[in-house]
Amino acid sequence: MSALRRFAPPPVKRGGIAFGGVSDEHAPATRVVTAGRAQQGTSLAPALWASSTWETDGLDDTRKRAVALRPDSFYSRYANPTVRAFEEAIAELEGAEESMAFASGMGAIASTVLALCSAGDHVVLQRQIYAGTQAFIQGPCARLGIEHSLVDGTRPGAFAEAVRPGTTMLVIAESPSNPRLDLVDLEDLGSITGPFTMVDATFATPIGVRPIEYGVDLVVHSATKGIGGHNDSTLGVVSGERELLDAIWAYSVLHGATASPYDALNALRGLRTLAVRQQHQAATTLALAAALADHPGVAAVHHPSLPDHPQHDLAARQLQCPPTVFALDLLGGVDAARAMLDGLRLVRVATSLGGPETLVCHSATSTHVSLPVDEQLAIGITPGLMRISVGLEDGDDILADLRRAIPAN
Ligand SMILES: *Cc1c(COP(=O)(O)O)cnc(C)c1O
Repeated sequence: MSALRRFAPPPVKRGGIAFGGVSDEHAPATRVVTAGRAQQGTSLAPALWASSTWETDGLDDTRKRAVALRPDSFYSRYANPTVRAFEEAIAELEGAEESMAFASGMGAIASTVLALCSAGDHVVLQRQIYAGTQAFIQGPCARLGIEHSLVDGTRPGAFAEAVRPGTTMLVIAESPSNPRLDLVDLEDLGSITGPFTMVDATFATPIGVRPIEYGVDLVVHSATKGIGGHNDSTLGVVSGERELLDAIWAYSVLHGATASPYDALNALRGLRTLAVRQQHQAATTLALAAALADHPGVAAVHHPSLPDHPQHDLAARQLQCPPTVFALDLLGGVDAARAMLDGLRLVRVATSLGGPETLVCHSATSTHVSLPVDEQLAIGITPGLMRISVGLEDGDDILADLRRAIPAN
């Protein structure tokens, strides 16, 4: 167990590519502290603008604001200064021209899909994906006449092969994917021409990967997870080129999955410590994954930064800080999963990730319960698969709790 204490946090690599026209002289750990401060004047803390509406200066001024794109000081569904501060911070970290925040990660995903796709359009969807995204594409989108194809995102060329020229409007990927952290080669995804490409990088955060640098058009995060980082904010965000974001805004102002300024404020506070939290949590994650691989009740451990993972080389190239989640395959299947959840004393049973508390969930009966069993198995969700989000507690304490709770089989 003392090995865990010696495990040093992995350094966050310095990005080499100039981003968004902003100076690239500082490392990501600095930028999370400095980004998105234009709205707060000389105040060190961001201001909370709870206002839903602003007074205007008569007819002409009102008209000007009512027809503007993302107008300042008009009406909060159109734009809000606290939410703008969060959006500007994320755009800077992503190296994107613009960002837009939403009421949740699903709000961001659903609004973006409906902003860009119409009846008769086709979407290419990664098979290894957040179950809510899949349910949205297969349910409401199918009902509205938007077709889709499912592809294995780990197979090189799979996305491009599924594109129907002239008909495919959007390619949706997720990397690292939920729950087993499969990676998509973003160079491959970014080289697709024709449809817009979008990657859900929630599991990486902007500290782990900046997909825009690979030529991907849109990057989306559930900021409810690592970006907010404290389980006190429900928020989503999409980033990309200004023209594309303006089009998404024009749809979204009617759809109304509008981000709350309170959640944006909490997420901005979370963002300031993102780099240090993620480095620390990633170090604990890798140490736990290595230590639990030898447990007699464990069939396999999944994390792309482990040396024996099939995508280890891609992880080393593409991820600037490892993700803070790993998955465990229990030998004893669903009975072992139940026993493990019942036996935990420190680690909590809950379905989220990226917060201070270590959380575990049984994927087949929680996050992916909406998928038929054969579809679960096709993406590696076995009856014994447990997703663990590693928190900020002492690593030895987490290891002891997991070791004790996992049945030896
Ligand atoms: C949680 C999550 C979402 C959905 O985000 P919400 O904020 O819960 O709406 C989407 N994608 C991934 C990868 C997630 O983990």
